[in-house]
Amino acid sequence: MATPNELTAMRRAIAISAQGLGTTSPNPPVGCVILDRDGIPVGEGYHLRKGDHHAEVNALTAAGHRAEGGTAVVTLEPCNHHGRTPPCRQALIDAKVSRVLMAVMDPTSRGEGGAVVLEQAGIEVERGVLEQEALLVLGPWLHSLRMGRPYITWAYTVGADEDYDDQGVSELRRTHDLVIRRNGAIEEGSPASHGADVFRVPVPPLGDEPGKALGTLTEAGARSVLIEGSANEAGRLLAAAVDRVIIHLPGVPPSFTRVAARGQGEELVPSEFRLVSVEPFSSYVRLTGERAVRYQ
Ligand SMILES: [Zn+2]
Repeated sequence: MATPNELTAMRRAIAISAQGLGTTSPNPPVGCVILDRDGIPVGEGYHLRKGDHHAEVNALTAAGHRAEGGTAVVTLEPCNHHGRTPPCRQALIDAKVSRVLMAVMDPTSRGEGGAVVLEQAGIEVERGVLEQEALLVLGPWLHSLRMGRPYITWAYTVGADEDYDDQGVSELRRTHDLVIRRNGAIEEGSPASHGADVFRVPVPPLGDEPGKALGTLTEAGARSVLIEGSANEAGRLLAAAVDRVIIHLPGVPPSFTRVAARGQGEELVPSEFRLVSVEPFSSYVRLTGERAVRYQ
């Protein structure tokens, strides 16, 4: 069982991990908090981009010797493979932590991930701690991994001119690997954020075959793609693969006389999507819908 202190640390790890959204791909956005033997937070870190240190190593570096006998709280099972950096499970063993809490298990580890090796090293391991909450950040990455293609978001404003640059849509760019603009241009969501040798921006056009287009986006190293604008060709091309819609509805006055036939038959959110959040944003109402089946 996780203690209240540890749950607080996991929420903190989840929160800071979100800062990696849009830059870590093809790696996952992960956060980690280290508690000392008395349960006091002594270090934290997250993964920023491929080739940089993983969250656990950043957090252990911050904690220094105070990690000894303490607890590592991490949003994803620590890695067990030698990649560009040594495996995190070894860093945790070397730091002599006595306990590791993880939210989401890494599906790429096939049961041979960091958790098992940590246990073999005599470290107490807790799995699935606040897993559903951690999936708020890791969900699209996990979905992308399972589907073998990026998680696709289509964002648009109801009734807006297509050349209208909606602030609500443009501020979503930085949390996505790739953005497909209204004119078909493909851009890195946050320019030069992934590291040049691990990510390339595909050159449009994407063609007219959905499978091929998804393949191109996947090969680029993208785990998340944002399509902007309702009249975007890419939206039509990839419609069947869209995982999430974010719709901005212009605000209306408190009392509104409906003109005959207006809006009849129009779907506010496509019927195959489930509304998961509704919030006022700027002069709009922002509706987020997710395809009914997701993640697992
Ligand atoms: Zn790692």
